[in-house]
Amino acid sequence: MESISVLDMFKIGVGPSSSHTLGPWKAAQTFLQAISKKTEQVKRIEVQLYGSLAKTGIGHGTDVAILMGLSGYDPETVDVDQIEKTVSHIRQKKQLQLAGEITIQFDPDAHLIFLKDEILPFHPNGLRFLCEFDDCSLQKETYFSVGGGFVVQEGEDDRSESEDVLLPYPINSAADISSYCNETGLPISGIVLENEKSWRSEQETRDAVMDIWNVMSNCIYRGCHTAETYLPGGLRVMRRAARLNNRYLPEQSYDNYQEWSEVIRKGGQDFSYIQNWVSCFALAVNEENASFGRIVTAPTNGAAGVIPAVLQYLVTFKNDYSQDVVFRFMCTSSEIGSIFKKRATISAAMGGCQAEIGVSSSMAAAGLTECLGGTVDQCLMAAEIAMEHHLGMTCDPIGGLVQIPCIERNAMGAIKAITACHLALQSEPKDAKVSLDGVVDTMWETAQNMNSKYKETSDGGLAVNIPISLSEC
Ligand code: SF4
Repeated sequence: MESISVLDMFKIGVGPSSSHTLGPWKAAQTFLQAISKKTEQVKRIEVQLYGSLAKTGIGHGTDVAILMGLSGYDPETVDVDQIEKTVSHIRQKKQLQLAGEITIQFDPDAHLIFLKDEILPFHPNGLRFLCEFDDCSLQKETYFSVGGGFVVQEGEDDRSESEDVLLPYPINSAADISSYCNETGLPISGIVLENEKSWRSEQETRDAVMDIWNVMSNCIYRGCHTAETYLPGGLRVMRRAARLNNRYLPEQSYDNYQEWSEVIRKGGQDFSYIQNWVSCFALAVNEENASFGRIVTAPTNGAAGVIPAVLQYLVTFKNDYSQDVVFRFMCTSSEIGSIFKKRATISAAMGGCQAEIGVSSSMAAAGLTECLGGTVDQCLMAAEIAMEHHLGMTCDPIGGLVQIPCIERNAMGAIKAITACHLALQSEPKDAKVSLDGVVDTMWETAQNMNSKYKETSDGGLAVNIPISLSEC
C-alpha cells in the first residue's frame, strides 16, 4: 500500500501549477541526477512535452520550470524574484548553465518541443529528456507529472517518494481511518502523527509542518500587500487581494503578519465580514501563484489557496492561534488528500478541477472539522460533503493560464469547505447516505468518463467560449 507523508502532500515550491510547473521542474532535477556522472560531456539536450503539458505548458510555466530545473535551481529554495531574469537570459543567449556547472547551447524555441497532438500512454502529463554526449551516445529519460508535484519515471508505479516506509496505520480509505481511530481513541491527526513517526521524529514533523504553514501564511500576507498590477501571461487579469485588503482595513496600521491578523480579528464576527476575508485570503494566495510566487502545493498549486484560506479563517475567527491547532489541521487534511491520490487522482489532467479544487476543499473541510471539535465521523462527513458538491467540475483555464477560473475558484472551494464543516458539525454521520469512500470512488469514475477537453487542455469550456483576442492572450 502506498505510504504518503504529510510532507509529500504539502510541498514548498513555485507557482503557477504543481503538475505543469513543479512536476516538470522536479523531473528536470531528476534528469540531472540521471546524467550526473557525465554532465561535463553533455553536447545537446532536447525536451519533448506531451499531452496536457504541451497544450497548456506555456500558460502554466512548464517552459520556465524546465529551464530553471536544468539550470540546477531547486523550486523550494530558488529566489523567486530572480526567475524572470534567469529565464530571459537563457532565451537571449540561447544557452544555459547545465546543473549550474557547464554552459551548453540551448535555444528554448528549438529544444523545448511541444507535441500537442501526441500523448504518452501512462499519463497525459508526459515529458521526455533526450541527451547527446560528446561521444555521440544518447540517453533518454521519460517522466510523468502525475499531479501535486509528484513525478513518476517511465516504468515505475504511480507511488510517492516515501513508499518504502511501513506505517503502523496503513490507510487506503476513509473506512481505514475510522477503524484505526475507533481502535485507538485517537483523532485523525493523532493517527497521522503516529504514521509520521516512521519517517522522522515528532518534533521534526511538527517543525516541518510549521515551516509549511509559515510559507502559506506569508503567501497570504504578501498577496494582500502586493500592488494592483496585471498578472503575467497577457490575459490582463488584475490582482484584487491588495485592493480588497485596503477596502476592508481602511486606515489601519500594522507592520507584520501577526499584527495584521490581529487587526482583522478585532473587526468582529459579522458573516459578510468573515466571508469577505476568506475570499480575500484565497485570492491572495492564487494571485501569488499566478505570479510565479512561493507556494505550497495543497494538494496542487492551482488549488493552493483553499487550505491556507480555511486555516487562516480558523486561526483568525474561530480559535486562538496555536501551533497545535495548525498541526492538527494540516495532518487531518493531508490524510484526506492522500486517500484521493491513492484511490482516485489529484491531477486535473486526469480528473478535471474536481481533482484539484474539489480535493483541496474536501481536505480543508476535514481539517477544520477536527479543529472545531468534530468527531472523526464528522470530519469524514465534512470531507465527503465538500467533494460531493465539486463532482464533475471541469478544468478549462482561459488561455492555458492558472487565472480564470482558477483564482476565484479557490475562494469558492474555501467557502464550500467551511459550509461542509458546519453542516457536518450539526449532523449525525450515521444518518448520512453518502460515505467519503463512496464519493472518492464516484469522483474517480467521473474523472474517467470526463471528456479529455475538460482535463487541463484548454480545448473546451470557458477556454473556448470566452472570446479573447490574440493580442490579449
Ligand atoms: S481550472 Fe481548476 S484544475 Fe484547472 S488549472 Fe484552474 S484550478 Fe487547476
